[in-house]
Amino acid sequence: MIFVSSKVSDGNMSFFREDKKTVLENRKKFLKRLGINPNSVAEVKQIHSNKIISVTNRLPSSDTKADGLITNETGIYLMVKIADCIPIGLYDPKHNAIGLIHVGWRGLEKDIIKNVVKSMKKNFNTNPKDLIVKFGPSIGPCHYRLNLWQLAEDQLQKLSVLKKNIDNPKICTYESKDYFSHRRSVVENLKEDYRFITTLGINLRNS
Ligand SMILES: [Zn+2]
Repeated sequence: MIFVSSKVSDGNMSFFREDKKTVLENRKKFLKRLGINPNSVAEVKQIHSNKIISVTNRLPSSDTKADGLITNETGIYLMVKIADCIPIGLYDPKHNAIGLIHVGWRGLEKDIIKNVVKSMKKNFNTNPKDLIVKFGPSIGPCHYRLNLWQLAEDQLQKLSVLKKNIDNPKICTYESKDYFSHRRSVVENLKEDYRFITTLGINLRNS
């Protein structure tokens, strides 16, 4: 599996914050470096909901509102836009299935984690005990009133995901100058409030 986040040096990845041409170019360059065809990337319009979309080889339209995607199609990459919320990738090696969610406090409150695990169970017969879970760069308790990391880990474990299978490198977006942070851009009064992307896919060579 591949679970990667773009960096500040890759540029802004949100169409809402910069002209379309620049963003498309940034995305294309980043994906190309990873060997990913931009036409195989599935994304949704994020609304801080608990909604999960199941992706087949027909990609969802760009105005599909949701905050999570699942698939068992090899060669389809899932993608979320991030600046402080947690990108959480889930991989079921037994059924070769993946899920990717965008998780902020609102999503946590609305049980998006429960929904993605439930959707993977329903669609792919996933057993939560088999899930390999990875957290991407996101705001840490050092810079936010809530410990989103802990809350998310607790929810995962409550759903029978094994602690040893949860990997959180604890990279705080506010602190790390490698990633965009919405909160930092507000506090420091920056003009740019950009987003990076996190992508998850099953690659053909070594999943
Ligand atoms: Zn921090």
